[in-house]
Amino acid sequence: MTRVRLLVFNAALGVLDYRVPDGMRIEPGNVVIAPLGPRQILGIAWEPERLNAKEVPSEKLRNVLEVLPVPPLPAPLRRLIEWTADYYCAPLWAVARMALGSMAALRGGGTVTEYRLTGQEPARLTPQRAAALDALQGEQGTIRELAELASVSEGVLRGMVGAGLVEAVTVDLDRPYPRADPAHAAPHLSALQKEAADLFVRAVDDGGFAPFLLDGVTGSGKTEVYFEAVAEALKRGRQVLVLLPEIALTENFLRRFEARFGVPPILWHSSLKSSERRRAWRAIVQGSAQVVVGARSALFLPYARLGLVVVDEAHEVSFKQDDGVRYNARDVAVMRAKVEGLPVILASATPALESMQLADAGIYRRVELADRFGGARLPAISVVDLRSEVPPPGKWLAPRLVDEMRARLERGEQSLLFLNRRGYAPLTLCRTCGYRFQCPNCTAWLVEHRFSGRLACHHCGHETPVPEACPECGAADCLVACGPGVERIADEVAELFPEARVATVTSDTMNNPERIGTFVAAAEAGAIDVIVGTQLVTKGYHFPELTLVGVVDADLGLDGGDLRAAERTFQQIAQVSGRAGRGEKPGEVLIQTRHPEAAVIAALASADRDAFYAAEIEARREAGAPPFGRWAAIIVSSEDQAEALAAARAIGGCAPDLPDVLILGPAPAPLALLRGRYRFRLLVAARRSAEVQKVLRGWLDPLEFPRGVRVAIDVDPYSFV
Ligand code: ADP
Ligand code: ZN
Repeated sequence: MTRVRLLVFNAALGVLDYRVPDGMRIEPGNVVIAPLGPRQILGIAWEPERLNAKEVPSEKLRNVLEVLPVPPLPAPLRRLIEWTADYYCAPLWAVARMALGSMAALRGGGTVTEYRLTGQEPARLTPQRAAALDALQGEQGTIRELAELASVSEGVLRGMVGAGLVEAVTVDLDRPYPRADPAHAAPHLSALQKEAADLFVRAVDDGGFAPFLLDGVTGSGKTEVYFEAVAEALKRGRQVLVLLPEIALTENFLRRFEARFGVPPILWHSSLKSSERRRAWRAIVQGSAQVVVGARSALFLPYARLGLVVVDEAHEVSFKQDDGVRYNARDVAVMRAKVEGLPVILASATPALESMQLADAGIYRRVELADRFGGARLPAISVVDLRSEVPPPGKWLAPRLVDEMRARLERGEQSLLFLNRRGYAPLTLCRTCGYRFQCPNCTAWLVEHRFSGRLACHHCGHETPVPEACPECGAADCLVACGPGVERIADEVAELFPEARVATVTSDTMNNPERIGTFVAAAEAGAIDVIVGTQLVTKGYHFPELTLVGVVDADLGLDGGDLRAAERTFQQIAQVSGRAGRGEKPGEVLIQTRHPEAAVIAALASADRDAFYAAEIEARREAGAPPFGRWAAIIVSSEDQAEALAAARAIGGCAPDLPDVLILGPAPAPLALLRGRYRFRLLVAARRSAEVQKVLRGWLDPLEFPRGVRVAIDVDPYSFV
């Protein structure tokens, strides 16, 4: 009799043993279905010696029911899953789940029925049908997906099928993707670019683990350069994974990729349609998906023939996942390259301090592109001291910035104003009684959004219409907006320059690929004069006519002073500055601040990046902060405040006493209430010599908590709220 050890997708169980019935063959990595009580569960066969399970006598074992018709998860991927679970103190099954696309994909190919417009123009239309006709141009999907897209009921769409307005199409789930052509439109690289590209190409040829930090100024052609490595992998029939920090950037990337390779790459992100997800996953495991571009979640997929990993904008904090498995996709990408023996390229104009330090230490190979491509120069940067150059009352743009914008408008050039704050105003209060609008579920003010006429919480999504009168004192017309968000800056621009064409770019306005595409096309065509945006516009875009960048409030990110506040401010402002002067005309950047003396502002103004990194690295070293020490956060939460506090105190009460580990807290989290849960935090600050994960497990594993309490461990935390 043979037994098999399964990693099962169940939080309480984790690992279970089963019997392999006669005639069934199972090898490690196989995805199987097994019985659990009256139900069936999904499991992955694993090397038994690598997982602990309760010993069950053979006669009690139940039979595995079925091996799913997909290739086994390869051994290097299993090792990566183990490493990730171990390093981030996460359950193995939760990490492994990220490797599997969907149940449908595991079940095999076949066909699905999707629907699309027939193109027929009916004589008369109900408003709902008219709306659906409008929304569904060029779309195809299941009835449910289309209903969601068009914001109509499924019934409306079924009616439209009956009326011949919508038709069914049969879609082959395993139909092949068009092939990318490595020679489609190869660019002429500059000598410096060529040197960098050759290094990457050789690394792809040679195989073997080779981590690179592609450190090139904005506009130096980093994408063109790593595309050469992509081309080489394609020629050799190897797959490529490109990680981007957010979906908003993919639109731009897709177009560039298609221009270079003739076809778009394969997308992987959380909002794919189910049929797209199925098709992509199956092409990935079969090896026919050539280049996959995705957000974090593309990292754990079972590529059959991976040959290269690229992490673009590798400094971005959104590579850190802050719920579920709290992993950093940048770091796990390097680990994936290591277990698979591959080159990995981390590309950025403003690398993370951690990456800089690894490059300094010779662990990553640094490849520099010090100049912009085609003779474009980096923009001139100057500081506007808001203490002496004061904007008019109730306004946010200093006279000098306004003058520069006017000059751009007169010359037909573009300006970009950057403020990393969505909405109209971050705080609304009552002039009469002082009442402030606060989220009922979170320790946070409600943010006014004028576009939608609502007050919204940016943490939990709670929304309420802006009321006519104060809910506390009942006074009418008494609400005042405090402070600016991008919508308010856009209003100010419209007042100053009524003729200017203004685009507001935030996750509220650019929430789907079409809108992003429309914006990019308009900006490139010169149909936009002023862009007002959040961090969404700081990177990736290349608008040749954009010659002025105004940073509305450079001090915003420095408040609160968490570990990376200065680094993040530096990166954001350097990135947004990098949007200026990318074409033939020189660019200029004005940074509005009340703290021109702050080290980060001074470094930006003098374009002295090295000085900034050197000072920041020294400060971290002094403080024993990452990357020189290892930090981990413990976040305890419950809907019941007393219960959360008691659990946090219990954890604090049995904190280990070790010479190389300092434990701070528990203390109420800055976001003391989040989505209705009360939160307390502890911070573990350890020397590099300490084995933090082992300490955490030895400390927390024996503890038991009431059902309502959640204890999350965040290794290498990025968020401190
Ligand atoms: P980065 O990612 O470093 O900011 P990009 O890769 O976006 O730089 O390059 C900036 C601009 O210069 C893009 O429009 C790109 O197409 C162009 N470019 C860079 N290198 C070349 C090249 N060798 N030939 C033609 N165009 C190039
Ligand atoms: Zn909230």
